[in-house]
Amino acid sequence: MAFRLTDTHIAQLRRQVAGSVLTPDDAAYEQTRLTWNRSTNHYPALILVPRHADDVAAGIHFAREAGLGVAVQSTGHGTQYPADDNLLIVTSQMDSVQVDPEACIAQVEAGVIWQQVLDKTTPHGLAPLLGSSPHVGVIGYTLGGGIGWLARRYGLAADSVRWIDIVTADGVLKRASSAENSDLFWGLRGGGGNFGVVTAMAFDLYPVETVYGGSLIYSGAVARDALRFYREWIETVPDELTSSITVLKIPSLPQVPEAMRGTIQVIVRAAFVGPATEGAAWMQPWLDWHSPVSNQLHEMPFAEIDTISNDPTQPTAGLGSNEMVDKLSDELIDVIIQYVTNPASPLTFTELRHAGGAIARVPVDFNAISNRDARLYLQMAGLVPTAEAYAAVKAYIRGYREALRPYVQGGVYLNFTKGSEEDHRAKDAFSTANYARLLNLKARYDPENLFRFSYRLTQPEKTNAGLKSN
Ligand SMILES: Cc1cc2nc3c(=O)[nH]c(=O)nc-3n(C[C@H](O)[C@H](O)[C@H](O)COP(=O)(O)OP(=O)(O)OC[C@H]3O[C@@H](n4cnc5c(N)ncnc54)[C@H](O)[C@@H]3O)c2cc1C
Repeated sequence: MAFRLTDTHIAQLRRQVAGSVLTPDDAAYEQTRLTWNRSTNHYPALILVPRHADDVAAGIHFAREAGLGVAVQSTGHGTQYPADDNLLIVTSQMDSVQVDPEACIAQVEAGVIWQQVLDKTTPHGLAPLLGSSPHVGVIGYTLGGGIGWLARRYGLAADSVRWIDIVTADGVLKRASSAENSDLFWGLRGGGGNFGVVTAMAFDLYPVETVYGGSLIYSGAVARDALRFYREWIETVPDELTSSITVLKIPSLPQVPEAMRGTIQVIVRAAFVGPATEGAAWMQPWLDWHSPVSNQLHEMPFAEIDTISNDPTQPTAGLGSNEMVDKLSDELIDVIIQYVTNPASPLTFTELRHAGGAIARVPVDFNAISNRDARLYLQMAGLVPTAEAYAAVKAYIRGYREALRPYVQGGVYLNFTKGSEEDHRAKDAFSTANYARLLNLKARYDPENLFRFSYRLTQPEKTNAGLKSN
């Protein structure tokens, strides 16, 4: 017989935890359930806002007894599936950050965002491996890999994790590190939120006080040539330089001047770790190639790293997808140009991030992350403020990916995918061996699939069709 949540059960949970327990009748429920990416609009049966790991454990015991699944939300930048009618654990109140500048290690609780880490590390001249936006949550980003502006120099964020504290489906708090529960430690780094609720994590920091970087903007008229030039240029640059190229279609929003709406721009972004003069020299070929419409390259304190991408800070409804690329062939460039410049395109951008470097130097069995040999991460996305826009962007991306298929590597980066796409693509994020190992871990640590709102790890078809072997 199905369990029915009653006021008595909820009152019991409230007595057990120091944090808050919210039902749809509570005033704070509405604000707390909101995701940053407004394309998910979920209505959990219950929200737990824990203060510490014991609260998380109580929530997990409660969910098991009540037959509820457990979803986790820090910021809602990367919600994969809505937590409708289940338990949502919102970690925002677990927000402590501790930095040991001597050991170059930061330790954070589950609800910390990258800006909070930056605020504590940059005064010591130390940098964490955050991504383009400091408003993204540390844990969600890192469990999915974490590619940022230091990626080619210092690798993915997941590769720099020292230990992870996690409450697993049995409601027990465990430390996972290379010394304890090492199998779980292996799978957590890349396996997302599949194995429990992470309550804290420690990771390495790097001595980076400044970077030389920023952006160059070119007119959309040179987009095709810019992509070709980018292809040649990235072959020449050192690992100290991480860069991206974006073909942007300026959205038709009221706040955008009418003349700009729907116009195309190319943005080259970069961050160089090392002397500014060297960074400037590596960027000089772009200035020699064509005069940019805007040149924002300069030496900046690491605390200002977010100004390179200037990601939106206000909640936004967006839908995106991605592919991994080995070679930026002319054919691939033609598909990008066709799909971005099509006047009917509902997408806002296509971005290529230069990978390799330190990402590729890590052995493929180091942790669950695979596809380390991909040269470029290709990401496309559009704004989806309405159900119609969502459907249009989803359909357009499907056609775009179909057209890209002959020219891409077949892998996927899970941090840049969203929603039901992961039902069939999660396995493409991993090598055959790593995926099998993840399935094994899932069966051991979460046999009832309590944590079913992260990337879906499903049994591969008998033929193993679609699984990659690298
Ligand atoms: C504007 C923007 C910029 C981005 N830039 C980058 C980038 O540069 N590089 C990059 O790699 N990614 C980037 N991302 C993707 C981002 O890393 C993922 O969306 C990530 O999942 C967000 O984590 P979050 O905690 O902020 O989001 P949430 O939506 O709160 O969490 C996402 C998922 O992470 C898991 N999770 C979160 N906390 C826990 C926990 N305590 N325990 C267990 N599981 C947990 C859950 O499965 C959850 O559904 C960006 C996303 C956006 C919207």
